[in-house]
Amino acid sequence: MLRLMPNIQRTVLSVVAFAIATLLSVQISAFELDGSKWPTGETEFYVDMDGIAASGITWNAAFIAALNEWNDATSFNFILRKDNKDPCANDGFSSVDFTNDFCGSEFGENTLAVAVVSFAASILGGPSIVEADIVVHKDEEFNVFDGNLAQVGIEGLDFRRIALHELGHTIGLKHEPEARAIMAPYISNLDRLQPDDIAGAEKLYDGSINCPFTEFAFGSRENALDSSDCTVSELLPGASDTSPIDLYRFSLTNPATLSLSMTSSTLDSVLLIADSNFQIIGFDDKSGGECNSSLTQFLQPGTYFLLANTFDVPLKTECGISGDYKLDAALNSVGINPLGTGTSVSNGSVNATFSGGITSNDGASFSNRFGPDASLDIVGRIDVDPADVGQEGFIVIAAVVDQQILFLNDAGQFVDAAANPGVIIRASNKTLAAVEEIIVVEDLVPAAQGISEILVSFYFGYGLVSSPNDLTYHTAPLNLIISP
Ligand SMILES: [Zn+2]
Repeated sequence: MLRLMPNIQRTVLSVVAFAIATLLSVQISAFELDGSKWPTGETEFYVDMDGIAASGITWNAAFIAALNEWNDATSFNFILRKDNKDPCANDGFSSVDFTNDFCGSEFGENTLAVAVVSFAASILGGPSIVEADIVVHKDEEFNVFDGNLAQVGIEGLDFRRIALHELGHTIGLKHEPEARAIMAPYISNLDRLQPDDIAGAEKLYDGSINCPFTEFAFGSRENALDSSDCTVSELLPGASDTSPIDLYRFSLTNPATLSLSMTSSTLDSVLLIADSNFQIIGFDDKSGGECNSSLTQFLQPGTYFLLANTFDVPLKTECGISGDYKLDAALNSVGINPLGTGTSVSNGSVNATFSGGITSNDGASFSNRFGPDASLDIVGRIDVDPADVGQEGFIVIAAVVDQQILFLNDAGQFVDAAANPGVIIRASNKTLAAVEEIIVVEDLVPAAQGISEILVSFYFGYGLVSSPNDLTYHTAPLNLIISP
């Protein structure tokens, strides 16, 4: 994490100067990013210009063709709005128009068009783009045509490739001075997006997550941040933040309140929650002091990332920027929630989903953290792979305490797996339904079992009689934490 920056800046990002550059013969991939992007990978863009080129093509048609070229070639999405908006107005609308001057000042000599991009500070990575406008120099002579810039019988400059270039700025691409690219600083004979332009946009918007992540299990876990981890600048291309970061993914199918803490004696902890677009929706402001971080966040159903991070330069003398940490996560939800992705012993792909929860009030709410006197129902749900529905199968339920694995047998008792090495003990045999409701335990009162403090990880899954050594189960355990 970097220190926070000022709020919104309206920054001139680009000027296309009029010059014909010689093209490089060597093609390299070297797009330039500064870490800024539209968080959602799309924006509305307002296009309604007067006029028509000498070639008979309207400026609108040429601009919309450029917009569609970005849409077709990349994961970014311009949503066309056929309305006129003032590109010089700081109004939250992204738009294009011809203007006599550059929003009140003179256009530079040889300036054809300028992209004006507004940013909002983001918690992690480069500033987010929140508005991007294009002003086109009305006094220049434009036309619309393909191919070389200089052609016998054609007057003016091709407006379409200028639009392509400026639209590249509006999605976060900078000038690419070396590769063959529309994003080169000078207008050239290139009239369509080049592989380098597309690669730059895809680096920002293809939705791939550039760092490894693990499925998050609510409960407790220990990990470490150090130089072997992914960095923020690797996660968010173009960002200058080199702090290490661990990523955990989780999904909710019911609204929930997540209470997180990250504790460390050596590491200045930073906790963040991002949505599936990697937009940061919550972070700890470090008001708690020491090297710890805590965060409570209400979340609607969806997929989220929990980010465990630190600073790239030390801020507190008592805390470092690498070392061990512990994460504690308590979830309070109105229903059961997913338990990571489905997997199988044979590593075959599975099309089954798993969810589960623990309730002390007959399903009014679910949590993973209870006192010893609570009376607990631990329940799950398997949406069975459609290919397996109707087949003869069996259900397996396991509890892991420390290193010990216990299987629930068909008499409703947990038995030590070590007593029967290599044997998968079944909770039941049955014809598999589309939805299997799992009852792990009912009315369990830990104190009545002499338990005042424990962490148990529950897993459940199913298998087919036709391949009895394979099991389909979930990757993130259903954790129960009992503490006084
Ligand atoms: Zn430019």
